[in-house]
Amino acid sequence: MTQYLLAIDQGTTSSRAILFSAQGRPLAIAQQELKQYFPHDGWVEHDPQEIWLSTLQTCRDALAQRGLAARDIRAIGITNQRETTLLWDAANGEPIHPAIVWQDRRTADYCAELKEQGHEAMVSERSGLLIDPYFSATKLRWLLDNVPGARERAARGELRFGTVDSFLLWRLSGGQVHRTDASNASRTLLFNIHQQCWDDDLLALFDIPRSLLPEVLDCAAEFGVTQAELLGGEIPILAMAGDQQAALIGQACFEPGMIKSTYGTGCFMIQNCGDQPVLSRNRLLTTVAYRLDGKVTYAVEGSIFVAGAAIQWLRDGVKLIGDARDSESLAEQTGDACGVYLVPAFTGLGAPYWDPKARGAIFGLTRDTGIKEIVTAGLQSVCYQTRDLLEAMRQDGTAEPGALRVDGGMVVNNWVMQFLADILGVPVERPEVSETTALGVAYLAGLQAGLFHDLDEIARLWRRQQRFEPLIAATHRQSLYRGWQDAVRRVRTGE
Ligand code: ADP
Repeated sequence: MTQYLLAIDQGTTSSRAILFSAQGRPLAIAQQELKQYFPHDGWVEHDPQEIWLSTLQTCRDALAQRGLAARDIRAIGITNQRETTLLWDAANGEPIHPAIVWQDRRTADYCAELKEQGHEAMVSERSGLLIDPYFSATKLRWLLDNVPGARERAARGELRFGTVDSFLLWRLSGGQVHRTDASNASRTLLFNIHQQCWDDDLLALFDIPRSLLPEVLDCAAEFGVTQAELLGGEIPILAMAGDQQAALIGQACFEPGMIKSTYGTGCFMIQNCGDQPVLSRNRLLTTVAYRLDGKVTYAVEGSIFVAGAAIQWLRDGVKLIGDARDSESLAEQTGDACGVYLVPAFTGLGAPYWDPKARGAIFGLTRDTGIKEIVTAGLQSVCYQTRDLLEAMRQDGTAEPGALRVDGGMVVNNWVMQFLADILGVPVERPEVSETTALGVAYLAGLQAGLFHDLDEIARLWRRQQRFEPLIAATHRQSLYRGWQDAVRRVRTGE
């Protein structure tokens, strides 16, 4: 019996394929960078063909690294950059335009118009999201209105819409299936998260023909099989989930209140809130964490635009450090109370402030402030922003987490992990397998294939590498955090 699981992780900056054992151990990793296109200010595009070819090639490479063939792979799972929007010709699978990436802001004016017209309450109530260019609906509408002939072709039923998961499934299955999963659907702004279906009123508001849309399945389901010639044989595709939801699963956050935070370029924090959606009063997003056997588990999500990117800025922008790793020893020399606050609002502030016009600043400089204090403040800013998100979740009345499970490139920094625990007042746990996104969708594929009995069995496979306990006194925590809140207040524009 073949036991290997292949996870496709199609991300914003790269495509990866990771081969896992049935116990969730990574056995082979293949990766290809993805080119970013910026055709105009605020526009971000990907080449769909490059998304496809890099995905296919990394799958082949991962199999080759272990000398495996298609018949050795029990199932494939797909996880992906979310919201990124593609529209293709059903006859030949050719996209009619480059993919519009989630970061793309081209529909900002249209979103502002919809908000002014008072549509946000209805949209939020149905979709759990906000009206923002980030999500797929306005990008799809832009394609229909701006690619010559697109609306007419859509009306004739010739086109298909999909986020990256659907596009890859279409290509992998040789154009046989047009499907997505509930976690990806819940990021389009077109999906009713309560009724678990495409919402007619949302489709009407954004002027999207229903014929474009994929069928929505559970996250673990029979999505299709790969066309035999692609990977040397047919392999069942048994799981799909958006990248952040997949990471929540990879971190085995299956109980209400459990929470994970991913620290890469930005930071995404997601808390499991069980079978009832928590509609946020603090501009957090409500989303489908996963849907299994028709049963929905919801999550509340907040994101920080600049996390690791603050460290990149310290390295590449102002050149205070030569390598991101140097930040750790500089912070160790400084300690936590240097009095300097760096607010990295380079592109505005995300949740819970949503202030796009705010800009960054450094406060609390004195004559003896030097490089190490500013670098330390940069690291601390990531932790303070996490506290802001946790406070918003607390105010929305979600369950108090017992610990924060972390992953992403930044979590190798022990000083940051300790300060994070200190400033949250919540223990921070780092897992043994850091590839939580790919692992999560591999677990789902394994679940569908019958390698795992249930989520409890998967939860027992999660292994902690290190736990950081909060060590500082509550009064010290409060005074540090008050300094941060004061700094944020001073950069906000009130818009
Ligand atoms: P992404 O997936 O968004 O490209 P990664 O998960 O690979 O990002 O994380 C890379 C980020 O982590 C970079 O922004 C980098 O500045 C930051 N980083 C990497 N190592 C460290 C470190 N030792 N200390 C602080 N930040 C780090």
